[in-house]
Amino acid sequence: MAVKTIRQIPDPILRRKTRHVLKIDKSVIKLVEDMMDTLEKSDGAGLAAPQIGVSLRVAVLWMPEEEPFAIINPEVVKRIGEREVEEGCLSLPGYQGKIKRSVSVTVKCLDIAGKPLRIRAQELLAQALEHEIDHLNGVLYIDHLESPDKLYKIEPKPAEQAGGETPKEGPVIGSPAPSTSEDKPPIPESAHAV
Ligand SMILES: [Zn+2]
Repeated sequence: MAVKTIRQIPDPILRRKTRHVLKIDKSVIKLVEDMMDTLEKSDGAGLAAPQIGVSLRVAVLWMPEEEPFAIINPEVVKRIGEREVEEGCLSLPGYQGKIKRSVSVTVKCLDIAGKPLRIRAQELLAQALEHEIDHLNGVLYIDHLESPDKLYKIEPKPAEQAGGETPKEGPVIGSPAPSTSEDKPPIPESAHAV
């Protein structure tokens, strides 16, 4: 297991459509473990394989107060409704945007054991699923901006810039902003929905 460097724009791998996983072998399991380690270090709530340089259809989700889980070969099969959300991405640190996401989604995928799953999700998990599955199709949240002024810089952490090799500038997708951890950056009120 290892914490990997998170690729940032304009790294071309972020724009590539990923390949399906044909077999969940040891290399895929190791990939998922590395992604979970990397995600844990970054305080995000989701990470897609291209973000650590692997162009495979794999993502991990880690919702507040829940166990992390991997999704293999996920596809959104149903979207319901529309809502405006604040969103950020570990691959675009320092920015946040207002975009439209579905109110709820249904995702078909495999779990890490190869078992078919059908996930019906709302709110934060629905947003994170759409965000991560976008990554697997080479799509970033900035592609959903209706206008450039919907993207804005977020305040950097006022102090203690040192020590952060990993992007920690505020809300990443699904950044839960829990109040339990003292080393988290202050997250603007507006970002709590992400
Ligand atoms: Zn992202």
